Amino acid sequence: MAWGGGFVGGGFGGGGHRSATDNGLPFGGIPSELMDEATKLLATEPVHEPANLTFTQRPSAGERQQLSLARLVGRYPRYLYGGSLLVIAISLVLQAGPKLTEYAINNGMVPGHHSLTVVVVCGAIYLVLALASAFLQRAQVDVTGRLASRVMHDLRIRVFTHLQRLSLGFFTEEKAGVLMSRMTSDIENLQQLVQDGISQFAVQGLTMVVITVILFATNVALATWTVLLVVPLLFVFSIWFHQASERGYLRTRDRIANVLADLSESLYGIRVVTANNRQRRNIRNHRHVVGAYRDANLYTGRVSSIYGPSTVMIGILGQGLLLAIGGRLVLEHQLTIGALIAFFLYLNRFFSPIQLLVQQYNALQQGRSSITRLRGLLETAPSVDEDEHATTLGPVEGRITFEHVSFGYDPDRPVLTDVNLEIAAGESIAFVGPTGAGKSTIAKLANRFYDPTSGRVLIDGVDVRTVTLHSLRSQVGVVPQEPFLFAGSIRTNLAFGRPDATDAQIERAIDVVGLRELVDRLPDGIDAEVHERGQTLSAGERQLLALARAFLAAPRILILDEATSSLDLQSETIVERALDRILEGRSAILIAHRLTTAQRADRIVVVDHGGIVESGTPSELLAAGGAYATMYASWLASGGRDASR
Ligand code: ATP
Repeated sequence: MAWGGGFVGGGFGGGGHRSATDNGLPFGGIPSELMDEATKLLATEPVHEPANLTFTQRPSAGERQQLSLARLVGRYPRYLYGGSLLVIAISLVLQAGPKLTEYAINNGMVPGHHSLTVVVVCGAIYLVLALASAFLQRAQVDVTGRLASRVMHDLRIRVFTHLQRLSLGFFTEEKAGVLMSRMTSDIENLQQLVQDGISQFAVQGLTMVVITVILFATNVALATWTVLLVVPLLFVFSIWFHQASERGYLRTRDRIANVLADLSESLYGIRVVTANNRQRRNIRNHRHVVGAYRDANLYTGRVSSIYGPSTVMIGILGQGLLLAIGGRLVLEHQLTIGALIAFFLYLNRFFSPIQLLVQQYNALQQGRSSITRLRGLLETAPSVDEDEHATTLGPVEGRITFEHVSFGYDPDRPVLTDVNLEIAAGESIAFVGPTGAGKSTIAKLANRFYDPTSGRVLIDGVDVRTVTLHSLRSQVGVVPQEPFLFAGSIRTNLAFGRPDATDAQIERAIDVVGLRELVDRLPDGIDAEVHERGQTLSAGERQLLALARAFLAAPRILILDEATSSLDLQSETIVERALDRILEGRSAILIAHRLTTAQRADRIVVVDHGGIVESGTPSELLAAGGAYATMYASWLASGGRDASR
């Protein structure tokens, strides 16, 4: 009851919630003095209900197209073309400065060409261009920012929608942390790329082209010298930097993954950690992985600290050479002073794009590998998919047939072999048997969490693989062994499978399963918040809520994986009474861990080693003196509190 007490006291807002939550508004935790203001504000808020949101198990033609950055950004041509024009304009405007300087020197400052007007006009134009470039850059950042936000929004929805289609097997095999990182770091990498990376690449690349063209147009000899002396050195250093930083990037990526994995395991397992006094050892472990991550960061820092100053040094060397060669050309009257100064200015500007391009290369690589990983995820087909010609399963009576069903999670390791079972409409069947025998697995085939490797599962004589998943699952309800509750109110949790349920229906479900007492105890009644995963409720309360949810969804067939946690006698009686009401007139598969539950079923099926060992009414099986009778005898001998296995 300690947890139940926590529930009552735990984090619900004041009594003022009621009026607001009646409107279906999310008011968890707003202080009562702000309630009136908040209510007024929310009353004027438009409701952002997507008008045409549909979900189909089979992806649309657009969703089946291979993921590529070009396709993603191609959906927004206005931003794309606008951004490209801005990039070109920026590259040109930015490079006009040195040319203007050259003009101002040659035509306004050198002896024989003194002209204050030229100098002032050039200065004014310089200023205007500087302002224009600032304006253009602001516009470009704005456009690419908008483009990136839209593209990432589409991508997030697309990946999430795909995850909704995937089958249970996928989520069992794939680590949740890995999937989270697809949705976070991979999408962020792409965001970075679309927002900054691509435009930077374009601006810097174009800048280099523009500068090279201007240099050669100004003086071919000097331009050739510059390119010959500077570019090879820069190239060699850049290749080294690129390789070293890629190594560093891979290292940091792997090591931060270890840090996150260690962190999430420690957080999820905090109860076990504390109970086993593992804190010291955990800290030591974490120091180890964090230390490795630090080393990787130090390495990349060292690489950058070598590359940056080296390129600066090459630049200075280049300027020295330029001074000597260019100075001679000036003395020989082959080059004007203005042009020499412009050369200097351009040479400086030639370096920063290279440095930036090399540094941005990692972002490009990251973006590319992110897109490959996301593409892989989007191309994973659901193992349980809908047939192209799937029909809608109409209201069923609830007859379930397992016909020569064999199955293995890993096809090479069969878990079920040749299971044959007929469950009549309205009949409740209890599966009993040792742990790992395959009881839950048989049940998971009835609502197509998995498909049999051979044989068929039929409902009312219809192969479940020929009907739409939506129509099948709306008639086959499941109450899992560990009921999952979502952060939200008791009301939203109960109405999960039937969002249009009326208050009266919700209240009735609460009465039927015997949750009235709990609900009445809570300050906000059915609008009380259930914390994430129902941590503030007791195990029995969670189970009753899950039963109420199933009752409200009113499926024709119910699969109930009974929790192994031993409830106290009183809770057990409440749960069992609730069960009796819920199973009335429904076909049901009960995976029974307590023989008291099994005894309530119309028929008991004993499962062992992936097959059905015996089946019959409780009294038939007891009379037959087989496996069930043995189980029953040992249960009685242990005082009737032992599990069925
Ligand atoms: P329990 O009474 O403990 O719930 P059960 O009879 O319901 O047991 P199942 O959960 O059906 O047993 O498991 C049958 C076998 O399949 C077990 O050997 C188990 O290890 C294996 N198994 C269960 N789920 C998976 C999975 N997702 N992937 C691979 N093997 C699995």
